Amino acid sequence: MTKRHAVRRTVLGLRLPAIVVGGVAVLAIAAIVPAVGVPLASPSIVATRGAPGSPIGEASDVAAGELVRPDRRAALGLADGLVPEGVTILDAEYPAVAKLDPALLGAVRSAAADARSNGVVLVVDSGWRSEAYQEQLFREAVEEYGSASKASRWVARPGESAHEAGAAIDVGPASAAAWLRRHGAPYGLCQIYRNEPWHFELRTDAVEHGCPPLYADASQDPRTQH
Ligand SMILES: [Zn+2]
Repeated sequence: MTKRHAVRRTVLGLRLPAIVVGGVAVLAIAAIVPAVGVPLASPSIVATRGAPGSPIGEASDVAAGELVRPDRRAALGLADGLVPEGVTILDAEYPAVAKLDPALLGAVRSAAADARSNGVVLVVDSGWRSEAYQEQLFREAVEEYGSASKASRWVARPGESAHEAGAAIDVGPASAAAWLRRHGAPYGLCQIYRNEPWHFELRTDAVEHGCPPLYADASQDPRTQH
């Protein structure tokens, strides 16, 4: 994913794709909370919307049409691999973590434990993703960058992302990603794309030989060639 995507998705404290603004975003969050039964929405999320204390979905600054407008974004949830803020590699109750390839999961857990002993907390910004989630990310990227070919430099096309195979993890915050870039090779964890310093995959050869050269971006990866 792009840095700009990541920032946009963390504004409201939850990595929902393409959070819009105000009431619509809160509506999307509100739709997820009852479905998963965990308090995803932090108090700061609610505080970003209209009048304090007013029930979600009834703010006066939200037009009625927005409340009922079908929005595919709201259909995605934890089961698609979305992750609440602050999830770690130990939080296996989230499909984004649980559906990672077991070898990758084990490697990241080992690295995260060592990082933590060095005072670095490694957070999972994205792990396994459903194809629907990847489709949405790609659709957003096309909107943002203006064409599918430009978008594919930043977001793999649906069906081509290592995230869909559970073979990739996006790590945050930036300081933790930096730690993993510096120390990941002995665990077989490697940055793959120069333009995605947060994206890591398992390269078992790296344990002995170090990580392979970086691709400039995902569109240069032979796995995405058409
Ligand atoms: Zn990634």
